[in-house]
Amino acid sequence: MTTVDYRLNEIWTKTLKAILDSSQLKKDDFDSYFSDTYLGRLDDDLAVVVTPSFAALVLMEQSKQLVEFCLELQLGYHVQAQFVLEKDFFSGRKSNEENGYLSYELNPNYTFANFVVGRSNSQAHVAATTCARSLGMIYNPLFIYGNTGLGKTHLLHAIGNQVKASDPYKKIAYISSENFVEGVYQSIKNKQIDEFKAQFHDLDLLLVDDIQFIAGKNKTHEIFFSVFNDLISNRCQVCITADKSPNDIDGLEERIISRFNQGLNINIESLEYETSLSIIKMKLANNVSFTQDIDEEVLSYIATNCSQNVRTIEGALKRLLFYSIDFSNESRITLKVAVEALKDLIAANNLADVSIAKVKKAVCSYYGISNQQLVSKNRTKNIAGARHIAMYLCRKILDAPYKEIGKEFGRRDHSTVMNACVKVEKNIKTNSLYQKVVEDIEAKIKINPQ
Ligand code: ADP
Ligand code: MG
Repeated sequence: MTTVDYRLNEIWTKTLKAILDSSQLKKDDFDSYFSDTYLGRLDDDLAVVVTPSFAALVLMEQSKQLVEFCLELQLGYHVQAQFVLEKDFFSGRKSNEENGYLSYELNPNYTFANFVVGRSNSQAHVAATTCARSLGMIYNPLFIYGNTGLGKTHLLHAIGNQVKASDPYKKIAYISSENFVEGVYQSIKNKQIDEFKAQFHDLDLLLVDDIQFIAGKNKTHEIFFSVFNDLISNRCQVCITADKSPNDIDGLEERIISRFNQGLNINIESLEYETSLSIIKMKLANNVSFTQDIDEEVLSYIATNCSQNVRTIEGALKRLLFYSIDFSNESRITLKVAVEALKDLIAANNLADVSIAKVKKAVCSYYGISNQQLVSKNRTKNIAGARHIAMYLCRKILDAPYKEIGKEFGRRDHSTVMNACVKVEKNIKTNSLYQKVVEDIEAKIKINPQ
C-alpha cells in the first residue's frame, strides 16, 4: 500500500463513520452497499469513490450530498464526489497510462463570469483575461502564484474556457504538474519520451497547474524545459500557477526560473474582507438550496474568519446549509446558529495559521515576560514555568518535532524539550489550577491565532 493509498483509506474510513453516525441512511443499506466502497482518487476539488456493484453506485448517487458533506468534515474543504464502478475505475486507469498523459479537460464551472474580483486578485484577473484575449502576444509565460484556495486553478480554467468559447478549434491543454511528472515517469519507463513531448506540439494554450511539484526532479525539469521552450518560440501561450514565486520555489532550476521571469509574474494575495463578502454573496445567490434568510452578521462572521482560503468559505456555506436543515422551522439563520454550525471549521482554520512564534507570543503576554526572557537561560520559576508551557503547547497544538522546538527556544536540545513536556503533563494531571492556566492559554491561541 502506498502512502497516498493509506491517506485515502484513512479519510474514507472516517467519512464512512460520519455517514453512519449521521443516521440519514438505514444501517442495513449502509452495511450492504457502503461498507465495501473506497476512495480511489482525491484531487483538489474531486473525490472519486469506487463502488463494487451497480446497486451501491445508485445508492451512493442518491446520497451524494451526504457523502460530500461527510467528506468535507474530514477535509475541511468541499469536494465534488464522483462514483464509479470498480471495473471502470481500473480500466480508466490503465488507458490513462497506455494512452495520453495529458488532460485536455477544462472545468466548465470555472469561468471569468463567476470569478469575483477584488484588490487582492485584480492584477491576476486582468493578466488572465488579457492572455485569453491575445494568446501568446503579451504576457508569455504568465505565472500566477499565491497561497492555496485563492483562485489560481479557477483562473487557469477560466482562461481555457474563454479561449475555447471564442474559438473551439484552438488546441488547449490543462495539466497539473503532478500529472506531468507522472507522464514523464511513464514515458521514460515505456521508452516513449518523444511521443510524450509530441503531445504538446501544436498547442495554442498550455495551462500548467501547481508547477512547484516539478521542483527537484531533474529529468522532469529537462523535459519540461524543452517542451516549454518549443512552445514559447512557437508563440503558444503558457500560463502557470504555483504556491510561491519562481525565485522562492526550492529546487527549481536557474534556467527555468529565468525563463519564467521573462514573462509576467503575478501574486494573488489573501482576500480582503469586502472581496470575501462578495464571494459569499455570489455563492449564496447561486445556491438554490438556501431557503432561509441569513442575517448580515453571519456573512460578516464568515468573511472575517475564512478570508485566507475561498475553499474554507465554500466549506462554511455547505456546512451552514446542512445545519440549517435542522433549524428549518426558523425563518432566519442567525449568528448564534452559524457560530454553533461552524465552530470546528473555524477553529481548525484559525489553527492552520498558528506558528511557534504565535504560541510564544501568547505565553509571553499571559505571563507578562518578553520573548527574550522566554528563550533565555533564566531559570526563575515564573520564566522557566512559562517556557515549559510554551514548549508543551508547541508540541500539543502544532505537533512540532522536539528538535525544532528546542531550536526555537534558545537552541536547547530535544531531551530538554521532552522533559519540559513531561513536567507540564504531570502538573496538569495533579494540579487543577495549573491545568486551567494551560487551557486558558491554549484557548487564547486557538481563538485568536494572530
Ligand atoms: P487555488 O488553485 O489557488 O488553490 P482554486 O482556484 O482551486 O484555488 O479555488 C478554490 C475554490 O474557491 C474554487 O471552488 C474556486 O472556484 C473558488 N474561488 C477562488 N477564488 C474565487 C473568486 N475570486 N471568486 C469566486 N470563486 C473563487
Ligand atoms: Mg489550485
